[in-house]
Amino acid sequence: DRRKLAAGNWKMNGTTAELSQIDALVAAHGDAGCEVLICPPATLIAPMVARAGGKIAVGGQDCHAAEKGAHTGDISAGMLRDAGASHVITGHSERRADHGETDVDVRAKTEAAIGAGLVAIVCVGETLDEREGGRTLDVIDTQLAGSVPDGATGDTVVIAYEPVWAIGTGKVPTTEQIAEVHAHMNARLKERFGDAGDAIALLYGGSVKPSNAAEIFAVDKVDGALVGGASLKADDFGGIIAAL
Ligand code: 13P
Repeated sequence: DRRKLAAGNWKMNGTTAELSQIDALVAAHGDAGCEVLICPPATLIAPMVARAGGKIAVGGQDCHAAEKGAHTGDISAGMLRDAGASHVITGHSERRADHGETDVDVRAKTEAAIGAGLVAIVCVGETLDEREGGRTLDVIDTQLAGSVPDGATGDTVVIAYEPVWAIGTGKVPTTEQIAEVHAHMNARLKERFGDAGDAIALLYGGSVKPSNAAEIFAVDKVDGALVGGASLKADDFGGIIAAL
């Protein structure tokens, strides 16, 4: 069975002052029936792990494909693990756009993450142009085939469907559109990985809020969310966790 996961992506937001949000999250939802994960900026991983006391999982937002070496400014998957992270996001559309990451890059990062013992949350999703051109499912197929490494299982990989046009815009696909993509992804993963593929959890991401979370979580094969803006405040994220 696919696990339920409420994941927050703080993106480039947060300093030590914001660690107090973790106290509130732990107090309110430390024993939630789903897994709760926050991916803060790398500078906050170790202090957040200490503050979360094992009640909330902590993850990175990116990792390098190599174990170590001359890559100024980069962080390896092993370093994230060493800092106490259990997960890492790979292939977020902001990394693909801002840093030119290709499916080949994302696959190499995902392999490194799994090799270091992290769960990789691999992001896929179409742009507005691609959706309007009727190419959504083709784009998802290409990204899944290119970004997800061989041997992926429900224990090593989570997929996040994040339509680029829904990120930070307040625009959300219809529940029919989400259902179509999630059913398609589940079918493709089953085709490629069998039962192990069926066990890969599928998150939706893009303008998830407390007010729309329940409706999104009711969609077939939506196993949780990857939340940006609304994960920054414990009150908002708590409302989303409660809906899952
Ligand atoms: P928002 O929830 O702010 O739309 O961001 C979604 C996202 O990109 C999470 O990774």
